[in-house]
Amino acid sequence: MAVLPMRFLPDPVLRRPAQKLTKVPPGLKQMTDDMIETMHVQQGVGLAANQIGSLQKVAVIQLPDWTEALVLINPEIVKREGELELEEGCLSIPGYRGLVKRSVRVRARAIGLDGKVIRIKAEGLLAQALEHETDHLNGTLYIDRLVARDKIWKIGYRPDEEGHEGHEHDGHEHHASEGAPGPGDSPSPDGSSACVDPPADAPDAGPPFRGP
Ligand SMILES: [Zn+2]
Repeated sequence: MAVLPMRFLPDPVLRRPAQKLTKVPPGLKQMTDDMIETMHVQQGVGLAANQIGSLQKVAVIQLPDWTEALVLINPEIVKREGELELEEGCLSIPGYRGLVKRSVRVRARAIGLDGKVIRIKAEGLLAQALEHETDHLNGTLYIDRLVARDKIWKIGYRPDEEGHEGHEHDGHEHHASEGAPGPGDSPSPDGSSACVDPPADAPDAGPPFRGP
């Protein structure tokens, strides 16, 4: 296994839709093993192929309490129920988190490395990760799903933590990248946006976001 170089915003590969695979190619196991190792090193809960520069429609997900990763080929969300606001980050947009709209429950379908169909009913973090990764494979990023344009902040400068400006969070914020919300902490929707510095690759993008 190998750790692969990550792609970051504004790399155009993050904005291109991945191509559906018509069969499981022989080299795919190697690639997904490498994606899993890369996800572990980055302390993420998911990784989509675009994020390592591939446009094969493949993602891996591993929640913090799972002992092994789930490999999803051609994943798609087939049903969404409910809507809620969640805090989210992305390994390809390091240093930022935002408040996004996600589904409460989803049903997803994919193919496994063995070629068999995988059907998943999910809620909570898994539902969020499935939506986040299938979005990646369609060229969509969480910054496209912010509840409001200014609901994104630099890690350590969350809008509802004005009293703690400059305080860098330890560990869990990074661990929570790529779809994971921090434990029980969703920012108040009416929080101040004083420290917001939104990435510019938003829907009506300004200059390219270089990241911190
Ligand atoms: Zn991501």
